[in-house]
Order: sequence, then C-alpha cells, then structure tokens
Amino acid sequence: MADSYKFIARRRNLVKVLESKGIRSSIVLKAIGDVPREKFMNQTLIELSYDDKAYPIGAGQTISQPYTVAKQTELLDLRGDEKVLEIGTGSGYQTAVLCHCRCSVYSIERQKTLYDKTSKLLYDLGYRANCMFGDGFAGWKENAPFDRILVTAGCAEMPKELLTQLKVGGFMVIPFGTNSQLKMLRIKRVSETDFEKEEFGECSFVPMLKGVEE
Ligand code: SAH
Repeated sequence: MADSYKFIARRRNLVKVLESKGIRSSIVLKAIGDVPREKFMNQTLIELSYDDKAYPIGAGQTISQPYTVAKQTELLDLRGDEKVLEIGTGSGYQTAVLCHCRCSVYSIERQKTLYDKTSKLLYDLGYRANCMFGDGFAGWKENAPFDRILVTAGCAEMPKELLTQLKVGGFMVIPFGTNSQLKMLRIKRVSETDFEKEEFGECSFVPMLKGVEE
C-alpha cells in the first residue's frame, strides 16, 4: 500500500509523543508506528490524523485518542498470540492496532452504518479481524472464552456476561463509571468465581449503549 512520506514522518513523531506521555510497551509503540491512522479518519480530517486527539467519525462516534488506544493496549499486556474481544469497533483503528500486535481479534459494533463501513475497510486494508454487528453487552459466546476483553466505550453498568466469557487468568480492560467520572479498570478472572480489580486513573469515552442501531 502506498504511504506518503508526510504521514510516515508524522507517525514516527506520534510514537515519540506517546513515549513522552509514559507508554513503554515496545509491542504497542511498534503497532502505533505501523498503523496508518489516516485511513481510519473521516477523510475531511486526515491532516489531523497524527494529533493526539479523538475526532468525529460520523454516527455520533469518535476515533479514540492515540494515547488512549496505546494505554488500553498496553494494559492488555499482550505477548502476541492472545484471543482478544474488542467491544466498539468504531473507526477500526484500535482493531488494527490489536491485529498488529499479532492477536486473533474479534470485534463487535452496535451501529450498523459503522459496522458495514469499518468491517469492509479493515478487510480492504488487509486486517483479518473477525467483525460482528451486535450488542457488546452480550459478548460473542460462540468464540468464547477470550484471553483478553477490551471495552472501548464508557460503561456505567458492569457487563457481567463479558466476565463469564473471560478465560481464568485472562482479563478485561474497561472504562467504568458515570460519564462525568470514568475510571480505567483492569479486571482479572482469578478463578471460575473470583475476580480482582485494579484501577488506572480517570479517562473519557463515548458511552457504551444497550441494543443495536440499524
Ligand atoms: N475503538 C474505537 C472507539 C470508537 S468509540 C476506535 O478506535 O475508533 C466507541 C464505539 O463503541 C462506537 O463506535 C460505539 O458505537 C460503540 N459501542 C457503544 N456501545 C456499544 C455496544 N453495546 N456494543 C458494541 N459497540 C458499542
């Protein structure tokens, strides 16, 4: 795929910015340095692709800020062969970053227009993620259990079904709380019945909504 020098230079610079903000994982920094964020942006905004900011992608949704994508991916502590479920495909940028980390990726989106557009885009760009149109609160039973679950929308209510789809020893990274006070949590399944929670500070996300939107 042709990739202009301008974007390559900006992408390298973004990696430096994320390092300066505390991202340390070499797998994550390499993925951010490889994924062409400009392909996942609203095409009228591509000049802003390497600003460390969230931008609108249509349907009232946003492409997450690169720092947020890097931080959440770092919290997943990936080695490269995990089965990962992402809730909220959105633009597909986070999905592509997970593919670059060599995981097998399953991603669910509740908005039909975004699902149609993004699943085709990911395929056309060569990312072999498994995409599904549906409500992330229900997870993806047929493909469970997962080593990791990544929720990319702010959740006011703990999605219990997702916890049951985690492997023992696996964990879920989820922005949790009310919209005015979301905290990044990592919830580890330590046994069939027990979970342990760690907190990683405040964050902001569009809300996780119930049901699907055709
Ligand atoms: N990972 C995306 C983030 C997009 S914003 C990116 O990097 O672009 C969050 C996304 O979660 C939106 O696309 C929204 O439609 C989706 N979403 C919200 N609630 C959902 C649910 N219950 N199930 C699946 N997707 C959901």
